[in-house]
Amino acid sequence: MKQLTDQEIRSAFVNCTKGQAKRLFVPRDLADRPWADLDFLGWRDPGAPDRAYLVAELDDRPRALALRTPGPASWQARRSMCSLCLTAHTGGVCLMVAPRAGRAGQQGNSVGAYMCSDLSCSLYLRGRKDAGPGTRLQESLSLEEKIRRTTANLAAFLARVTE
Ligand SMILES: [Zn+2]
Repeated sequence: MKQLTDQEIRSAFVNCTKGQAKRLFVPRDLADRPWADLDFLGWRDPGAPDRAYLVAELDDRPRALALRTPGPASWQARRSMCSLCLTAHTGGVCLMVAPRAGRAGQQGNSVGAYMCSDLSCSLYLRGRKDAGPGTRLQESLSLEEKIRRTTANLAAFLARVTE
């Protein structure tokens, strides 16, 4: 994906208020991120471990999501698979919950999906990050097809947040 600025990321959030988008944590080292190898940029808030965010370019515009991780107890040490990139980790996947956009979100509705807890799906797919032994699914898909599938999975999740 192409590199985004702090401002572009903040204005791309679909499921939080403008005030929240202005205040939330965005990494300061954006210029050093491996954008060419990213299908989306995901990050955690180091000051608030239950918060995570991601931004992707879908339909040619950046769309960003605010996510919550509802505590480690339910997933820790359990091996599960990321629903975006289909990488399996031991303890490296967690439930991410996104408040739904607009009125539904204000009423407390949210949607959840299991994702790589560091949101580095793009790097696992490209072999730039290792998820541990025995975690690669034996598949005949090319990298390009896996990237397309991951992007489609993310677009589907985003649609559930915004519909
Ligand atoms: Zn993943």
